[in-house]
Amino acid sequence: MTEILRLKNLYVPTLKEDPADADIASHKLLLRAGMIRKTASGVYTFLPLGYRVLRKVEGIIRDEMDAIGAQEIMMPALQPAELWHESGRWDDYGPELMRLTDRHQHGFCLGPTHEELITSLVRDELRSYKQLPVSLYQIQVKFRDEIRPRFGLLRSREFIMKDAYSFHDSQESLQETYDDMSGAYGRICDRCALTWRAVEADSGQIGGSVTTEFMALAESGEAELVHCKCGYAADAEAAECICHATLHRVEKMEKISTPGVHTIDELAAFLDIPASSTVKALSGMSGDDELVVLFVPGNHELNDIKADRAIPGFRFLTDDEMISFGLHKGSMGPVGLPEGARIVADRNLRGVPQWVVGANEDGYHYVGAQLGIDFQVDEWADLCTTVPGDTCPECGCALEGARGIEVSQVFQLGDKYSRTMNATYLDKDGKEQYFIMGCYGVGVTRTLAAVVEQHFDEDGIIWPPSVAPAHVCVLPLSADDTVMNAANDVAAKISRMGFEVAIDDRDERAGVKFADADLIGWPLQVIVGKRGLEAGKVELKRRRTGERREVSLDYLDEVMTFVTRKMKAMPQGGTNLFASLFE
Ligand code: ATP
Ligand code: MG
Repeated sequence: MTEILRLKNLYVPTLKEDPADADIASHKLLLRAGMIRKTASGVYTFLPLGYRVLRKVEGIIRDEMDAIGAQEIMMPALQPAELWHESGRWDDYGPELMRLTDRHQHGFCLGPTHEELITSLVRDELRSYKQLPVSLYQIQVKFRDEIRPRFGLLRSREFIMKDAYSFHDSQESLQETYDDMSGAYGRICDRCALTWRAVEADSGQIGGSVTTEFMALAESGEAELVHCKCGYAADAEAAECICHATLHRVEKMEKISTPGVHTIDELAAFLDIPASSTVKALSGMSGDDELVVLFVPGNHELNDIKADRAIPGFRFLTDDEMISFGLHKGSMGPVGLPEGARIVADRNLRGVPQWVVGANEDGYHYVGAQLGIDFQVDEWADLCTTVPGDTCPECGCALEGARGIEVSQVFQLGDKYSRTMNATYLDKDGKEQYFIMGCYGVGVTRTLAAVVEQHFDEDGIIWPPSVAPAHVCVLPLSADDTVMNAANDVAAKISRMGFEVAIDDRDERAGVKFADADLIGWPLQVIVGKRGLEAGKVELKRRRTGERREVSLDYLDEVMTFVTRKMKAMPQGGTNLFASLFE
């Protein structure tokens, strides 16, 4: 039997009103339910109920990590600058890295991630291929001086991460651990009752190329995704863009006067054709100072990451530079560009024989500019950000759009860190080899907030039982002895059955208790009132659906026993755990 939570003495300062500076559900509700408090911008304190939920989420993660043979360790948050100099990230990481100097003038940082530290940890002591593979993880506080801390726990400056690192002597071995970790990450999301998608992603700061992000679907998410019925899902920025650029057919190229037309929308409206039948031009410089003009379908946006991949070091021209090259913003096109300009076009335009495009002259456009006749394209590339309605690269169906919260990510690092930090082992021929590494991170506090983003209503949080601060809250509706004693008995009885139980034994009106119970989000409420007791009954309320049912006290054990049998499995975080009580 776990200890019963007594609200009378528990520090749960609930708030009636929405806090002024909180604009999304998880932030508002975690504050209002007395689970967290803001200490500074992007820095939060966990109060008893919030901390219980945090430990539940940690427990699920720990369980899944241990199950795939990862070993828990605890590294320091304070990391010596030398390690970051070795990897080159002291300079590369930028202002997000929280840096400090000790009294002896030694540089340190507060770890935003631990690749450097773990690589230095194993490089002298993990020596033989016989010791590999090894996976080490920790659940620990991380620091990132985010430019815009916001959305409460979703983007904070101090947060909890589970970070794991694996060391291998072959790509196959890395792949195996990567697959195990990905499996575990999916189960962590399931056990936290998250609706999620595993998406292809760009590897950004950490480096390496093979990576998957786990996204909890939510309107408040910062990531834009595309996904398909076939199971394909990707970050809209990273997804291969396959779209249908439409043809506006005319007999031959014709220059037309388009006074005042500067944007694609204006051009499409002026000609009364869809934006997909126009071609957008953008000008820039490559890393080798070569003038490049890019063309994309008019209804799509150029993607910076893809532009940089196609043209290393790509940057846009300034307005002044455009003028100096004789380019006309708002009416650029492939016909009559300055000598030597490199033309790179999106692959989707390859099948469009005639383009509606700028005429390199203010107030004029071409219709029917013929590819291969009126102009040539030097290179074709995947250049655009994918949008809903584009074609799924796996099955050809139309993609759907969604927003997501990145709760976790897995990376194959290869030898990026072992090489720069000279971390080697001896292979079976006694030769030194760089470790092949993987790294894997779950945002623990972000996951907690993502759960709230998916499980709430206008009255408050609806915790899935797997992470709820307790499964059941008993609500005595008055302070008189019969009611209190009966409520205490019921609480003790349910607790003995293996549920985590709270009792609202505060000297408060029934209305206040009801409102707080809904706000805090206990999955099941057991309401004990004077009138019910006279008939030997209590009332059950399921928070998720609002369903209510009276049961006789004698019958309560029997009903609840049925549920205890399902406690072990708890699929989907136990969201249906109490459903059978109301059938
Ligand atoms: P983001 O793109 O959202 O800034 P990231 O890709 O930089 O995140 P990772 O380096 O992949 O983050 O860190 C692993 C996990 O840590 C993320 O998937 C996320 O859940 C969590 N995380 C990262 N930054 C924050 C933050 N500022 N606040 C809370 N959690 C965070
Ligand atoms: Mg990430």
